[in-house]
Amino acid sequence: MSDSNLHLKLNRERFEISEEFLEKYNRPGPRYTSYPTAPVWQENFHPEDIEQFYATANTARTPVSLYMHLPFCENLCLFCACNVVITKDHSVAPPYIEILEREIAHVSRFVSRERPIVQFHWGGGTPTYLTPEQMEKLFRYTAERFTFAPDAEIGIEIDPRVTSQAHLEALRRLGFNRLSMGIQDFHPEVQEAINRVQPLEMTRDLIDGARKLGFDCEFPTAPPRRIIRDARHFYVPVREVRVETYQGIVHNLTTQNGTFTAPFVVTHNCHAYAAGMDLHTEKGVNQTLASFDKDIGFDKLKVVHLNDSRGGQGSGLDRHEHIGMGYIGTKGFKAILHHETIKDLPWILETPEDERRDDKGNLETVRKLAK
Ligand code: SF4
Repeated sequence: MSDSNLHLKLNRERFEISEEFLEKYNRPGPRYTSYPTAPVWQENFHPEDIEQFYATANTARTPVSLYMHLPFCENLCLFCACNVVITKDHSVAPPYIEILEREIAHVSRFVSRERPIVQFHWGGGTPTYLTPEQMEKLFRYTAERFTFAPDAEIGIEIDPRVTSQAHLEALRRLGFNRLSMGIQDFHPEVQEAINRVQPLEMTRDLIDGARKLGFDCEFPTAPPRRIIRDARHFYVPVREVRVETYQGIVHNLTTQNGTFTAPFVVTHNCHAYAAGMDLHTEKGVNQTLASFDKDIGFDKLKVVHLNDSRGGQGSGLDRHEHIGMGYIGTKGFKAILHHETIKDLPWILETPEDERRDDKGNLETVRKLAK
């Protein structure tokens, strides 16, 4: 390794990150948490297009990265922007696994066994919502249909609130070598506020157990996206609406036979703007919210994620910007924050942190604009 490697010290641990590694990931990428990611939704992409992609990749013999989305969680964290299904009823898992296995069988027919899987990831949701036996069955089903490279990165997102020692042991047995765990904040008040009570001791015990089993642990410790208004009652009755217009920009939007089935939704400024909805003028905000009310209903909207957009209206670019510094701008945010129907909802900041501004700066800006 060269001298230009990055050396980090976090608490008592030292990390060395190579120049090649930094180079590999030094590019903008969409959030995988809403999968498929918001910018890729389009209507003119057909089964034959994906088959063409598979064929080209087979010819080029490119290595494969495989992602599987396991969307279930028992409770909703209020900052969540993932494609999730919240339910404590675990009977939803077997039918989902059955469909996932059909998809695995289908896709594997197009992927040459000569192309090794070099990266494999289970994300969600909470993949350890499945029992160890269900995880084992699903993984073996996959391993029988694809060729894993001997040194493949095999990763999973875990949540200490639902991950047991038996889960960890099963994962290790199967060959998982990376764990990813979101830690937003250890302050009990913040944990209560974001509806994710994950005490330090619980998290530490799981990390200790995982390290003893030989896992490589990574902790995307996102700065707490503070809720700046109190959350209200969450669950409301469901009514049928068309959802295509909002796919990818409104979270928790699930459908059955083309109709809306989720009891509440969370919307997202940057995604909505990048998808073409006008949010940078008062008139645009009024029109966008009126159409939202008509199609989905304000009674379903429970949380608004606040972030400006680095891409223009309709750009399809999923890149968050500081409040007021992007294309939505201060005028747009003023209109959003003062809009009668959402001004009393909980808002969650989902803004970057960099040399231009930190969370506190964005919070101050929001407070100023909301006055
Ligand atoms: S555990 Fe993760 S996916 Fe589930 S609700 Fe919380 S943030 Fe979202």
